[in-house]
Amino acid sequence: GDIVESLTRSIENLSADASEALFEPVVRLGVTGLSRAGKTVFITSLIANLLERGRMPQLLGAANGTIRAAYLQPQPDDTVPRFDYETHLGALSSSSPRWPESTRAVSELRLSLRVQSTGFLGVFSGPRTVHLDIVDYPGEWLLDLVLLSKSYEVWSKETLDKIKSRDMAQAYLKQAQAVDPNVALDEPSAQNLAAGFTEYLKAAREAGFSDCTPGRFLLPGELEGSPVLTFAPLNKPERPQRRSLWGEMERRFEAYKSSVIKPFFRDHFSKIDRQVVLVDALGAIHKGPEAVEDMRRAMAEVLMAFRPGKNGFLAQILRGKRVEKILFAATKADHLHHRQHPRLTAIMDALVRDAHDRADFAGAETAAMSIAALRATVEETLDHNGEELDCVRGRLLDGGKQAALYPGELPDDTATLLSPAREGAKEWLDADYKIMSFAPAPMKLKPGEGPPHIRLDKAAQFLFGDKL
Ligand code: GDP
Repeated sequence: GDIVESLTRSIENLSADASEALFEPVVRLGVTGLSRAGKTVFITSLIANLLERGRMPQLLGAANGTIRAAYLQPQPDDTVPRFDYETHLGALSSSSPRWPESTRAVSELRLSLRVQSTGFLGVFSGPRTVHLDIVDYPGEWLLDLVLLSKSYEVWSKETLDKIKSRDMAQAYLKQAQAVDPNVALDEPSAQNLAAGFTEYLKAAREAGFSDCTPGRFLLPGELEGSPVLTFAPLNKPERPQRRSLWGEMERRFEAYKSSVIKPFFRDHFSKIDRQVVLVDALGAIHKGPEAVEDMRRAMAEVLMAFRPGKNGFLAQILRGKRVEKILFAATKADHLHHRQHPRLTAIMDALVRDAHDRADFAGAETAAMSIAALRATVEETLDHNGEELDCVRGRLLDGGKQAALYPGELPDDTATLLSPAREGAKEWLDADYKIMSFAPAPMKLKPGEGPPHIRLDKAAQFLFGDKL
């Protein structure tokens, strides 16, 4: 009897495994965007809203009752850090709510949804499970893709040319000018150069520039201080010597490509089915024309990564697999009264169209939206010298006081914002936007009440609604 029983059991196990593979679809959802774009907040709020059944009327599966249950499960990849959902939610929902720690590296979480269609066919189809594997990774790492097609010499020249006119680069440029690239390598001077270049990248990022590669210089993770991150662009010497500073930096640049960039694309990027790219468009618009111009170039570069045909290395690792949908979402829309939302969405639309053209993109389905993953404000219309002013009210991070603020205007005609020659152009979001940093509003988490958001449900519907 024992043998029969254990045989039966192993057949059952076998068929359970097989049915999981056959009937439990997995959607790998990539979440990216540059530092502080809002990845951590987006993932935390999305999961909390799905787990608590928050208000998600635009996610059809939630609205019509198809999603019966949602629960967290161990993720499939044992060596990838787990997205620290509980800690992040703890920060947002504590009695003095704080923003969570931002993304520093790749992480993952599996959310499983038990679904049963309620329609005519639902009668015949039993409950199913759909796994949502959410993969969070820095957008800076994605932008590194362009480095693969460059030699150290080309990268150095392009970088030094590009940063010549930037104020924050002058200190590094002086430093690079002062070294003879043909002297024998000494490690401290290589470290000084890398540190100087990293300082420049940080300042450029702070000023709103997106093209801040190599991405690991800003978010090094466990590679901090390693030789693979200890290089910087230099002027090429007439006749480069093999054991020179130049020669060693060239070698490290190649090592960065083969042991940092390539493994990331092979191990993480290549497995993604659906992608959301979060963009702090409001921040860039506030910072001015250069930051906007840079943001639109960065978006085209991002699309480039999703068009594997043009990149030999990507084509080779993807072997025909491709991302099916890409959403570009402007985050933090709760800084604006909803009357300004259509303008923000129109700007994102135009940016995505522009990126399409620049990247010569024909591939995944794309969409543009404006969202707030965690709404920290309420709307308030104030009387300002007899005129109505559409404000948002929230608790300021600095000082903790409540304030109703007016961010300033977005252009109603996106062409004026996006045309590259904007000599003497008007400044946008030039009222209170600069002091608008709100703390998350206190929230109660219980079934039926997730974190407040704006169009997070619409984003979810686009990204995986069709799989439910
Ligand atoms: P990450 O670096 O992409 O992981 O960015 P985070 O998710 O940590 O977000 C960076 C910061 O942006 C947060 O600390 C908040 O200050 C702000 N932020 C992100 N999402 C929202 C949002 O939906 N509304 C508001 N008001 N602020 C947000």
